[in-house]
Amino acid sequence: MAETSATHLDLEPLDGVRLKDLTTLRVGGAPRAAWRARTAEELAHAVSLLDAAGDPLLILGGGSNLVVADGDLDLTVVVAGNDDIEVRADGLVRAGAGAVWDDVVAAAVDAGLSGIETLSGIPGSAGATPVQNVGAYGAEVGDVLTRVRLYNRETGVVEWVPANDLDLAYRYSNLKFTGRAAVLEIELQLEPSELSIPLRHLGGKQLPLKEAREEILRVRAAKGMVLDADDHDTWSAGSFFTNPVVGPEQADVIARAAEAERPGDGDAMPRYPQPDGRVKLSAAWLIERAGFHRGFPDDKAPARLSTKHTLALTNRGGAGAGDVVKLARTVRDGVRERFGVELVPEPVWIGLSLD
Ligand SMILES: Cc1cc2nc3c(=O)[nH]c(=O)nc-3n(C[C@H](O)[C@H](O)[C@H](O)COP(=O)(O)OP(=O)(O)OC[C@H]3O[C@@H](n4cnc5c(N)ncnc54)[C@H](O)[C@@H]3O)c2cc1C
Repeated sequence: MAETSATHLDLEPLDGVRLKDLTTLRVGGAPRAAWRARTAEELAHAVSLLDAAGDPLLILGGGSNLVVADGDLDLTVVVAGNDDIEVRADGLVRAGAGAVWDDVVAAAVDAGLSGIETLSGIPGSAGATPVQNVGAYGAEVGDVLTRVRLYNRETGVVEWVPANDLDLAYRYSNLKFTGRAAVLEIELQLEPSELSIPLRHLGGKQLPLKEAREEILRVRAAKGMVLDADDHDTWSAGSFFTNPVVGPEQADVIARAAEAERPGDGDAMPRYPQPDGRVKLSAAWLIERAGFHRGFPDDKAPARLSTKHTLALTNRGGAGAGDVVKLARTVRDGVRERFGVELVPEPVWIGLSLD
């Protein structure tokens, strides 16, 4: 049934669009229909009508955290298009779900507000930032997120919900994988400041806000982590696997395995102690030590590891979803065999899975 209830709304139709046109990995087939909601009200209304009709639905922002199956897809896409950004001198920032996240960061930095400058250059929409509690360089949106305006798909209610109710954790919230609500708006409380928050990769140094943003954009671009249509290293879903968090004993076992393979690696293994006593490891380091080099497998493969960063799986132009999944399985299995660690994908999968 290609006709959806959203046809009763005055939404902007995105005719003939495929998910490969709407995602940064640039794979994914044709939805039953696709629409852009231009206001929060349109977004909530569209979701309510599609839910009432029982139509499978994908709420989409910038498509930068998705792996989508090829072929005909039994779902309707609604793109969040409400892109208002309000920045107040006291540090309060509100953004519509469809605002480009990096525009929000730029506006905050321009207004002399600190708190999200290390999240510069993360692709996608403001509305998706709480979904996986986006983070980079030691900061997460959850550090400054006060509340989100949700359309609750279970109750049909539109309400402002405190950030504390989202179970925010490392690359996680209770919105991710559940689709239980549409994020209509987000609200942040930032700090008026001339200086940035401490930059972890510079040993905690603080820079003037604008310099900090430029520094982060420079470091990210060097890793292929800023979107650039001309650079296939950025045709990705960002970091493909989350950094595994393991118990201290398992971390020691992994370090010994690395040391046995190459003397010195045991001590060199990155370890980030967590408040609960566990240890976060670097997925990129494990991938490299399991034998996967940048550009793996070779320069003919349609899907390869980025030539700048082993944690990004990239589309070199002609890759389909199957090519990406095959590469992801090879990397996951290789790390499991080498270190006994199960890498878990970070993106949301639609119509296919890694298993
Ligand atoms: C080059 C690159 C670099 C990246 N770097 C980082 C990084 O440093 N840190 C990081 O955390 N992530 C990073 N990512 C991942 C990605 O950019 C973020 O997860 C981003 O927040 C996804 O936003 P989006 O709008 O593209 O979401 P989409 O990919 O469109 O959607 C992702 C999920 O969120 C849901 N969703 C989207 N919008 C809404 C909404 N309004 N309401 C409810 N659900 C919604 C979707 O249904 C889907 O399940 C990177 C990705 C790329 C391609």
